[in-house]
Amino acid sequence: MIAPTIIAKINDLNAALLSWRTENKSIGFVPTMGALHAGHSSLIHEAVKTCDVVVVSIFVNPTQFNKAEDLAQYPKTLEADLLLLNNFTDVIIFVPEVSEIYQNDLPPTKVDFNSISDQLEGKFRPGHFDGVAQVVEILFNIIQPRKAFFGQKDYQQVLVVKRLVKTLQLPIEIIACPTKRELNGLAMSSRNLLLNSAEIKDAEIIWKTLCFVQEQKNKYSTIELQKLASELFNSGNLTLEYLEIVNASDLSPVKDWEEECVCCIAAFCGKVRLIDNLVLI
Ligand code: AMP
Repeated sequence: MIAPTIIAKINDLNAALLSWRTENKSIGFVPTMGALHAGHSSLIHEAVKTCDVVVVSIFVNPTQFNKAEDLAQYPKTLEADLLLLNNFTDVIIFVPEVSEIYQNDLPPTKVDFNSISDQLEGKFRPGHFDGVAQVVEILFNIIQPRKAFFGQKDYQQVLVVKRLVKTLQLPIEIIACPTKRELNGLAMSSRNLLLNSAEIKDAEIIWKTLCFVQEQKNKYSTIELQKLASELFNSGNLTLEYLEIVNASDLSPVKDWEEECVCCIAAFCGKVRLIDNLVLI
């Protein structure tokens, strides 16, 4: 067992992983952008349970932000993050600078995401998933994990990463972990730190609407329910970007409830953009 080690350089990370690699131990990987909360911890717990050593990266990736102000206001709480990670053993914390990750100007590998990346987040955050795929590919190459852990909170991101791994034929298992929520149902998110108490209350409408969709499923057509749910959502104080019920595997529009469906929501709560989803059963 090792206490958490903090590493900033790729060479040092390789040195730290060397003995685990030579002994063919399993390396798990949990990529994060910091401002850690219990949602992140749940991913790390899962990784520690099933891997010999776990790399947790803290890296606010500039290429996935399509708005400079969003990047600038993204919360940074490194000291608190390190305290939280102190609770884990056999964890290596990788906190690289931007220049360490983007050492050369090589263009990212072109991956055909089969329209998965064009929908929902892709429509409202152009270039977002190109940035995600770029940094994930770089981090996967550096760390070469056997398993990588992602949250279902970013449902579309999981599909994009799975597609990336399949296309590049990387020997990495992608594990999707359930969304951790506050007691009021609000999905935990680093961005919640930017909400004031009135906004946190307002944001309850997201979970309320997702539950409404789950409860009312089968009583209405998918199109009708989408409309009713949007009306409910709009009775609150958030500004809706999208509320869509889509196919859970490829995010295409659904015609009926025969398909496995996921309801995805993105909305502004004041200046803070929040996303959430629920796979409908
Ligand atoms: P982020 O730091 O927001 O980039 O998130 C890092 C990882 O944690 C991603 O795979 C997220 O999907 C996951 N994550 C974020 N919030 C939650 C949550 N509430 N529950 C579970 N996983 C989460």
